[in-house]
Amino acid sequence: MNRTLPVQKNDYIDVVFEDLTHDGAGVAKVEGYPIFVPNGLPGEKAKIKVIKANKGYGFGRLMELYEKSPDRVEAKCPIYKECGGCQLQHLSYEGQLKAKEKQVREVLTRIGKLEKVKVHPVLGMDNPWRYRNKAQVPVADREGGLVAGFYQKRSHEIIDMKECLIQQEINDQVVQTVREICERYGISAYNEERHKGVIRHIMARHGMVTGEVMVVIVTRTNDLPHEEKLVEEIYNRIPGVKSIIQNVNSKKTNVILGDVTKVLWGEEVIYDLIGNVKFAISSRSFYQVNPEQTKVLYDTALEYAELTGEESVIDAYCGIGTISLFLAQKAKKVYGVEIVPEAIEDAKRNAELNDINNVEFEVGEAETVIPNWYKQGITADVLVVDPPRKGCDEALLNTIIDMKPKKVVYVSCNPATLARDLRILEDGGYRTVEVQPVDMFPHTTHCEAVAKLEWR
Ligand code: SAH
Repeated sequence: MNRTLPVQKNDYIDVVFEDLTHDGAGVAKVEGYPIFVPNGLPGEKAKIKVIKANKGYGFGRLMELYEKSPDRVEAKCPIYKECGGCQLQHLSYEGQLKAKEKQVREVLTRIGKLEKVKVHPVLGMDNPWRYRNKAQVPVADREGGLVAGFYQKRSHEIIDMKECLIQQEINDQVVQTVREICERYGISAYNEERHKGVIRHIMARHGMVTGEVMVVIVTRTNDLPHEEKLVEEIYNRIPGVKSIIQNVNSKKTNVILGDVTKVLWGEEVIYDLIGNVKFAISSRSFYQVNPEQTKVLYDTALEYAELTGEESVIDAYCGIGTISLFLAQKAKKVYGVEIVPEAIEDAKRNAELNDINNVEFEVGEAETVIPNWYKQGITADVLVVDPPRKGCDEALLNTIIDMKPKKVVYVSCNPATLARDLRILEDGGYRTVEVQPVDMFPHTTHCEAVAKLEWR
């Protein structure tokens, strides 16, 4: 027990939530000491139980709500509490967008010291449900059959799930159909503890624009019992199916896909379009999971790039070349760099598929490849970065400052590292003109944003 703290573990106290954390918990303060309480919303009065009292902050559990926020709504999903896939379903969609805007503003001020930067309201979805184009669902044996669902929060217990309200309907249909067929043929599910059984995951991918569907059955064993019957039934029952794949993962691991991929029927890839750019998607390819909002995100990046057709553009962290190909249509030349070799193979294939010839892709670390390009005389008028959550490597930011492209467009999936990196670029001579957050993952706490910077 730490007697210097204003609260102790197991205390019951009445609080008012003042704020929401970036991971969706309510923040209550007792004499300035913050307590994080899942499910609490700003403005709400509640009784909480203190679960943990650390030196600088504590955690609590919501016991009783005395006064509800006008933004509180009933979560639509019946397994919302157990699942953990979404964190904000108890907040109205409008409330979610407001919270994300506030979060971006706050980190830009606190971490980036950018009080005056223009932050636009978050671009949200008209219908923020059923947006995901990819499902990967674990399977387990239960008395009376197979269940396919989600790992319960903080455990490896699989919860039976008939539908997921942020998945496109066809993905739910694939999962339930494959589960039912496997059950009927008596094919066992993988048991993690004993490392026995056959079916590990059922995966579905859907090209939203083309309607094409890929079904991937991940097995522990090389052999898939009743393979022919399984394929025939999937073919007959899944509209739009173009590819049925078995992936073998015989390792003891949490990683979903193994190294062996077998095409059981149809094509190795399915196709989809973002705007007018076509993409080939294999079972292993990275592809944005909310295609509708991806278009909104890339349109914003394109608008911020202000291309006239004369520019040389660098796309750092280019993945399968999605942004590069989008920009190539309006630029003179685009150079993409990405660390995963398979993604660069996909990027090259996608360039060919679209007959786009003014792009070049290279495998490697952005922070190594771009300085090399610079030494060879390859520079950019516009430089786009779309790094992972940890943000850009400092070496890359320093190269940008040396190279001085007229514009930098920063696409970010983590406002905190965005703010940190903008500060470095500002100190190096850039000015952040505006920031546009885009809601790619409604009902979760994730927040994407695009920033436009100009050389002073
Ligand atoms: N722009 C792409 C992908 C962005 S995700 C799209 O919109 O689809 C971030 C990408 O950065 C991933 O593909 C990841 O493999 C890649 N990456 C991570 N670290 C990197 C590094 N140091 N250099 C280059 N690419 C990196």
